[in-house]
Amino acid sequence: MISRQFALLGFELAAPGERADAYIINSCTVTAAADSKSRQRIRQAKALNPDALVAVIGCYPQAAREEVARMEEVDLVLGSADKEGVADQVGKLLRRARNDKRDCAQNEGGELVSAESGGANEAGGSPRERTRAWLKACDGCDRFCSYCVIPSARGAVRSAAPAQIAREARGLIAAGYKEIVVTGINLALYGTDLKGARALSAAGAGKPADGIFALLSRLCSLDGEYRIRLGSLEPTVIDASAAARIAGLSRVCPHFHLSLQSGSDRVLQKMKRRYTAEGYAEILAALRGLDPHFAVTTDVIAGFPGETDEDFSDSLSFVRAAGFAKVHVFRYSKRKGTAAADMPGHLPNAVKAERAAALAKAAEEGAAAFREGCNGTLRRTLLFGPDKGGRFVRGITDNGIDVRVPAGAFENPAAAENTFCDLELTREIIGGFS
Ligand code: SF4
Repeated sequence: MISRQFALLGFELAAPGERADAYIINSCTVTAAADSKSRQRIRQAKALNPDALVAVIGCYPQAAREEVARMEEVDLVLGSADKEGVADQVGKLLRRARNDKRDCAQNEGGELVSAESGGANEAGGSPRERTRAWLKACDGCDRFCSYCVIPSARGAVRSAAPAQIAREARGLIAAGYKEIVVTGINLALYGTDLKGARALSAAGAGKPADGIFALLSRLCSLDGEYRIRLGSLEPTVIDASAAARIAGLSRVCPHFHLSLQSGSDRVLQKMKRRYTAEGYAEILAALRGLDPHFAVTTDVIAGFPGETDEDFSDSLSFVRAAGFAKVHVFRYSKRKGTAAADMPGHLPNAVKAERAAALAKAAEEGAAAFREGCNGTLRRTLLFGPDKGGRFVRGITDNGIDVRVPAGAFENPAAAENTFCDLELTREIIGGFS
């Protein structure tokens, strides 16, 4: 985790949106929208403190170094770095850059493995950050979905050794973190690159996602009071039985992110997604069989090249019926070097925008229905503690719902920080979705 390593190097961590001497933008380049978001964050950082050093790392500069370096707000560009020494390396560069602010550092050949954007694991952060830690298990992907730049930007899957991850998890639990969010570009591929990957399997070789199942089984068996939430799983790898097997692990939260991308089999095939809408629906059914309020979040692309009205209608119907807790809707954007960029049938922006808006509306209705369905249920909740004004105690349920409980419900709201409780959800305390 970059933030924790920075803290070890003596940096004091600022909360998101706070004025700071340096900002690290850990970027993603999965879509043009992600690039745009990174550029927005870069500008926001500089606006917060025009004298601050702004460093951009991650796969956006790896894929488009020149474009990032050209931004006048950017002081430091790091496309890649050595995994083991990333904090040390970035720290040195930051210190050096303080003396030579326009130095654009180049660091080829390594790999940057770190906390995902949005996560910080330091004791100096907000209460939310002191209760949840992000643990990256793997990076890269070799699925080559036809619209995606990740395989060329970040390379094939690279997994950290199970013993190393377990060691890191033990350290986080000992430091008091109650929720460990295990992340990776394509977590379902975890372990497929490790020597003897099959030996990782705790339940028979050859089944989809054996590696991640074995890793999670190991993480679930550690001592302490904690739970595990997963980052993104890919239905390009896992099927219904693999998803159910993972979801059945004792400490794993009933909250998966499974990218749908399209509800049309024809489009899924053109996307090279390796599953059908029916296969995806089977995963949903298996998860809901374990817990009717199992939260599934997803991504959907509107306006993939050649997407017909009928294809779009299939996606819309799927989103309406699926009961997703949250949907990230993306308008298709052409990414240089991907197979989809050269496909015929690119749609006008207006059509993509119209379809994205319809999907977003359906997604919001579905999300509201999901939250409403949880009204009256009892959920294991991790409390972050009182918010800034002290009026509410905030927290997150096992199935990912943000809650805000009136502080008056607690004898000592401050003592609630970083504790678990079984919370009956009501409309008043149900907030958004993480
Ligand atoms: S599974 Fe497909 S969309 Fe996901 S990272 Fe890999 S190539 Fe990209």
